[in-house]
Amino acid sequence: MKILILNSGSSSIKYQLINMPSKEVVCKGMVERIGSNEAILQYKTDKVSIEETLEIKSHRQGLQHIVALLVDSKKGIVDNANEIQVIGHRVVHGGTTFSAPTMVTPFVKDKIKELFALAPLHNPHNWEGLDLAEEIFPQAKQVAVFDTAFHQTLPLKAKKYAIPNHLFEEHKIQVYGFHGISHQYVSEKSIEHLKKSKSKIICIHLGNGCSMTAVLDGVSVDHSLGFTPANGLIMGSRSGDIDHSIIFYLVETLGYDLKDVNRMLLKDSGMIGLTGFNDLRDVQAAAENGDMASNLALEMNAYRIKKYIGAYASAMNGLDAIVFTAGIGENSSELRKRVCSEMDFLGIRLDNLENEKREVGIHEIHTGDSLVKILVVPTNEELEIAKQAFQLVSAL
Ligand code: AMP
Repeated sequence: MKILILNSGSSSIKYQLINMPSKEVVCKGMVERIGSNEAILQYKTDKVSIEETLEIKSHRQGLQHIVALLVDSKKGIVDNANEIQVIGHRVVHGGTTFSAPTMVTPFVKDKIKELFALAPLHNPHNWEGLDLAEEIFPQAKQVAVFDTAFHQTLPLKAKKYAIPNHLFEEHKIQVYGFHGISHQYVSEKSIEHLKKSKSKIICIHLGNGCSMTAVLDGVSVDHSLGFTPANGLIMGSRSGDIDHSIIFYLVETLGYDLKDVNRMLLKDSGMIGLTGFNDLRDVQAAAENGDMASNLALEMNAYRIKKYIGAYASAMNGLDAIVFTAGIGENSSELRKRVCSEMDFLGIRLDNLENEKREVGIHEIHTGDSLVKILVVPTNEELEIAKQAFQLVSAL
């Protein structure tokens, strides 16, 4: 069964065509900078690799370019679009309605729309991807896979904020949690690797967005992002945890506009606010060249992660493994080293040589006497979506 995975963002569409159940990736790529006349179209199969810069004004045009390549008589990999039987969509916010992958119906689309206000940077674009795919692939089954779904298992003590109860009951103000597709994939891989279904694992997803999940016996029991993907760890441009009274001080005393404060906390804070660089590679290079602000930002970043490790080890009353994943987690030996230093009291001991090595697949980077395993596990959200979509349509 050929499943097309679509991850539709604000100015990009990432896609993969995956054969299930063999998990073979037959094609992958992305369209970036949609809306500009210098959009980038990438398309890769085992025979061709294309990267073009061209004008792509809308997501519709972007998806049409992808489909044109998929069915192209020379470069394509299907004879016609009807061969694609299932489209799996990443949808960031599923609210309290969606706790599992779901067949897309008009009701489901309406519900995703209702959640625009809770994930304004993501859900509108996910919805648009869904809507377009229904039009372009009318014969295919459309499946929505939600980033919040994995965290539906959070116990009330981790899910609720200590604010008046009616806000939870009537307005569903609570921790939803995000990056669930990645945390689910990576925690399942880790459990398989550890051969331990009863396990206490902390998954550390460090990419453009950053989050941590306490995974107890395979289920999410605590998570660092909350009502929206804003709090918790220090991210590329998001502050993570701050004292909320800073917002009132900025508005009421310093005269900031509320919209600007929101923008500042989401777009101009985190690593970029501290160093001028969003990309961790740039921050690391600057720190190596003696930039004190960049060095401090790396320390702050690692320190926040360490604090969450301590919190989640306490929440689970123990720890079998910590797992690093996503762009930074998989690639930055520097940040991993800073996070794992002076964590001996918890039995976390990093093998510095192993940490510097690059491996394909799951990589153990702890010392032989470490009581806690330290793993690097490459995430694969597309494969997780394909797996969940395949299971759902196979059960119909
Ligand atoms: P993701 O959202 O998982 O694609 O992660 C993207 C982020 O990973 C980038 O913004 C970089 O900050 C970071 N990244 C990618 N490669 C490296 C690397 N070799 N070293 C440090 N950070 C990296």
